[in-house]
Amino acid sequence: MTAYDTNNIFAKILRGELPCYKVYEDEHVIAFLDIMPRVPGHTLVIPKAPARNILDIKPDDYAHVARGAHKIAAAAMKAFNADGITVQQFNEPAGGQVVFHLHMHVMPRRDGVAMLP
Ligand code: 5GP
Repeated sequence: MTAYDTNNIFAKILRGELPCYKVYEDEHVIAFLDIMPRVPGHTLVIPKAPARNILDIKPDDYAHVARGAHKIAAAAMKAFNADGITVQQFNEPAGGQVVFHLHMHVMPRRDGVAMLP
């Protein structure tokens, strides 16, 4: 597997070199709005630890991301008056990953409303 690239977009966001619309931060993770939302409220949760994806991250750091997604899911259900939530996490190009710092997508859903591709 390719090594972690410290110049990926989310590493730059973590270092404050690129802007984001941050909605949550704790000791281990930040969460911010996706720049090309597939649904209103589409949020990304990322670890502060450098990790390319699930194949690279330590189990405890992955657990921190899951805990962050759990918090964001509950908040997004309320904030967007949602009927459900989609949580997705892609790994390596063959697995659909485009940005190579691990991230979980949290997407509030409404009945009958499709996600953008
Ligand atoms: P994935 O790697 O899981 O396939 O998708 C990467 C996600 O990152 C996409 O949903 C894309 O819209 C989002 N993204 C890419 N560049 C930026 C950026 O500079 N800022 C933010 N907030 N999101 C981004």
